[in-house]
Amino acid sequence: MYILGKNFDKTTKFPGISMVVLTQPLPLLRPFAQNKFFSLQTYYKKKSFIILMHLFTSDMHTGKLSKTRPMLKKLLPTILESTCFNEGNKPFSEEVLRTEIGHLFEHILLEYLCQAKLADGHEEASFSGTTDWNWNTDPQGTFWITISLEEHDYEYVEMAMEKTQALMHAILDHHHLVPQVYMNHSAFFASTSL
Ligand SMILES: [Zn+2]
Repeated sequence: MYILGKNFDKTTKFPGISMVVLTQPLPLLRPFAQNKFFSLQTYYKKKSFIILMHLFTSDMHTGKLSKTRPMLKKLLPTILESTCFNEGNKPFSEEVLRTEIGHLFEHILLEYLCQAKLADGHEEASFSGTTDWNWNTDPQGTFWITISLEEHDYEYVEMAMEKTQALMHAILDHHHLVPQVYMNHSAFFASTSL
């Protein structure tokens, strides 16, 4: 596990990919959402969509979550082709076997953003993002996910976030993870507006 880390990612998609609809999307309580595994604080900053994720599980990476790749292959197969600039120069299809859960969240979100834009009739969709963590200064399990986003793409965020939360929740739930820490950070960030 890395105490300090950063990943830069970019994914581009073209029409013809299969659309995935999850049957039980979780409600997105913007700008704050929480379930038993994680909380999300979201806000927009100039050309960026920023997510502060707090993970409540004891597992911070996918190393023991052996069903992660099979689930992605079944539910969101295009994610395994996405580009990932990580320390080990591994393709995401390998990186996903042991990567921080915040980083996985980012990749899932990039995929769903692409799908939403293509479904809207665009011929091409491309989104990029980074995931940062520094558990020397932030509590363990804190991730800062930044998605580069033009204003005209804001409309895709809600659907993509709902699907991302649902799939992330499904992956964590499937592995019977038990939340270790349950914190409500909403009060702390309630007044945030950027
Ligand atoms: Zn990546």
